[in-house]
Amino acid sequence: MTDDGMIGLKQYINQYDRFLVVGHIDPDGDCISSLLSLAYGLRRIQKKVIPAIDSPRPAIFERFQPISQIHFSSDIDLDDFDAIITVDSSTADRMGKYERFIGKKQNFVIDHHVTNLKWGDLNWLDVEASSAAEMIYRFLKDLGIEYDPVLATVNLLGIQTDTGFFKYSNTSWYVMEIAAELIKKGADTSYNASMVLENNRVEEFYLLAEMAKKIQLTLDGTLIYSYITLEMLDKTGCTYEDAAGLIGELRSIKGVETAILFTQMGQEEIKVSFRSKKWFDCAKLAIDYGGGGHQRASGCTLYQTMEEAIQQVVETASCQMKREKQ
Ligand code: 5GP
Ligand code: MN
Repeated sequence: MTDDGMIGLKQYINQYDRFLVVGHIDPDGDCISSLLSLAYGLRRIQKKVIPAIDSPRPAIFERFQPISQIHFSSDIDLDDFDAIITVDSSTADRMGKYERFIGKKQNFVIDHHVTNLKWGDLNWLDVEASSAAEMIYRFLKDLGIEYDPVLATVNLLGIQTDTGFFKYSNTSWYVMEIAAELIKKGADTSYNASMVLENNRVEEFYLLAEMAKKIQLTLDGTLIYSYITLEMLDKTGCTYEDAAGLIGELRSIKGVETAILFTQMGQEEIKVSFRSKKWFDCAKLAIDYGGGGHQRASGCTLYQTMEEAIQQVVETASCQMKREKQ
């Protein structure tokens, strides 16, 4: 499966020696995985790589040794690299402070989000790909990079997390074949799974309990939403990072098609996460509010009070659900 984007990326890599490889703010498993896999691969062909993310290191990946290579929220000098590669980011603002390098050095964007409008100077966009990590796998295979167990484990992580450990609709036979290849090369599946799924702090359960008390169900139980305030985070000893998995709990409820979780980041800064099960287009909804993502998982940030955000977004979601259902 070679496509134009991949050929373009090869040419780009040949053109330069030193790369700043950027992931998105609030990185997830796919972001960390695709960023590190690309860094490993490019270093094997004697390229210099600075992997960077403009966020603090996520606690869940604390003991994931390869992550120590990533520069988190670091100041990076324009003179230290020749060109940029951005992974898993559907919009420029996902680069955080590194967005300021756009226009000063070329930027090649590798992404799989359906809401990506090819905002890079050069782009490899594959909305069929399960994950950015899958795209990096295809690219490194094409380059002839040999996989060792560390690279295989790092690369598998993003495929595991973006497919919900092989249970979302983006889990194809092809994804399973790639996973099998990586396991053959020594990827430690259970290490990754345990790190992501069995690494919860007990405080997250306290937060889940608080969030559960605020659940609202409408549209005959097909739309569920809830919220987390700064006060609830404080009371349970959590940060907004601990709220990341809770949207999945809302979607897991019987009869629910769409789940929305509002998390307060500041007095008038609300992060909104959207999930759907079978038919509702979350990507379209997130775009309406300046965000992005996939059809079954998307998000945005609103700069207003919690009450305003809930009122507005729930109303829009209800209207869109009623319209799409017809
Ligand atoms: P989550 O709800 O887990 O934060 O995000 C779900 C999906 O939506 C991810 O694929 C993520 O990249 C995307 N997403 C979340 N928030 C934003 C946002 O503010 N802007 C954009 N462009 N995408 C977002
Ligand atoms: Mn991804």
